[in-house]
Amino acid sequence: AESKNSSIVRSLKIEGVKDIIAVASGKGGVGKSTTAVNLAVSLANMCGLRVGLLDADVYGPSIPTMMKLHGKPEVSEVNKMIPIENHGVKCISMGSLVEKNAPIVWRGPMVMKALEQMTRGVEWGQLDILVVDMPPGTGDAQISMSQRLQLSGALIVSTPQDVALMDARRGVKMFSKVSVPILGLVENMSYFKCPHCSKPSYIFGKGGARKTADEMGLGFVGEIPLVEEIRSGSDEGVPVVVSQPNSAVSKAYCDVGHKI
Ligand code: ADP
Repeated sequence: AESKNSSIVRSLKIEGVKDIIAVASGKGGVGKSTTAVNLAVSLANMCGLRVGLLDADVYGPSIPTMMKLHGKPEVSEVNKMIPIENHGVKCISMGSLVEKNAPIVWRGPMVMKALEQMTRGVEWGQLDILVVDMPPGTGDAQISMSQRLQLSGALIVSTPQDVALMDARRGVKMFSKVSVPILGLVENMSYFKCPHCSKPSYIFGKGGARKTADEMGLGFVGEIPLVEEIRSGSDEGVPVVVSQPNSAVSKAYCDVGHKI
C-alpha cells in the first residue's frame, strides 16, 4: 500500500506532455508572467514546437489578459477541460475559471487541488513543452508545486536590482532542494533605451543578474530591456513576439528559448 507520505509527493505526470518547465521568480512584479508568455509564444511560432501554457500563478493570474483568452474552457466528453488556444499556444489559467476581480484567498490544499485539475484534468493533447507560470515566492505552495509537477527544469526571472536578485537566489535554492535543474537566469528590465536619444539607462542597476548567475554557476540566458511595446503587448493581449516578430526584443526572447 502507498504510504501517506509518498502520495503527498506523488508527481503529476501529464500524458502526452514531453517536458514541463517552470518560469519562476523570487519576487513579484519582475516580469515573470511576461517572460513566460513571450517565451511560450516564441517557442511555438518561431521554433515550431507544440506548446502549452499553464498559469499556476493562482494568486494573481494574468495570462488571460496577456494572451487575450476569452470565456471559460469547454469540458470534453471525458470531463476534462479543453485549453483555450491563442497565438498558437494552448492555455489554462485559474483566471479563466474564477470571476474577474474576485479576490483569490486560497489555502495550501486548495491550491494543490486546483493545480491537479489544471494539469491532469486538461486535454493537453501532444505537447513538446508545457510552460508553467509559477506563483512568485518560495513558500509552501511553490515548494509543493515544484515537487508535484514533474519539472524538467526551471527558468528564473529577475531584474538587475539587488532586492530582486536576493529573492531570485532563494528561488534557485528552493528548486535545488527539490532536485529541479535550473535552466538559467533571465534578466528582465535590464535597461531602458531612451526613444529620443537612444542611450541606455540602467534603471535597476547594471550587470547584476549576470554576476549572480556567475556566482551561482548558472547559465545567463538573456537580457530583456524595459520597452514600452512589451508592456503594451501584455496589456492588449498581443505579445510583442506576435506584433513585432522581427524586433530586437523578440529576438532576445527567441534566444532564451534556444538557450534553455
Ligand atoms: P510578474 O509575473 O513577475 O509579477 P509581470 O510579468 O506581470 O510580472 O510584469 C509586471 C509589469 O511589468 C507588467 O505591467 C508588465 O507589462 C511589465 N513588464 C514586464 N516586463 C517588462 C519589460 N521588459 N518592459 C516593459 N514592461 C514590462
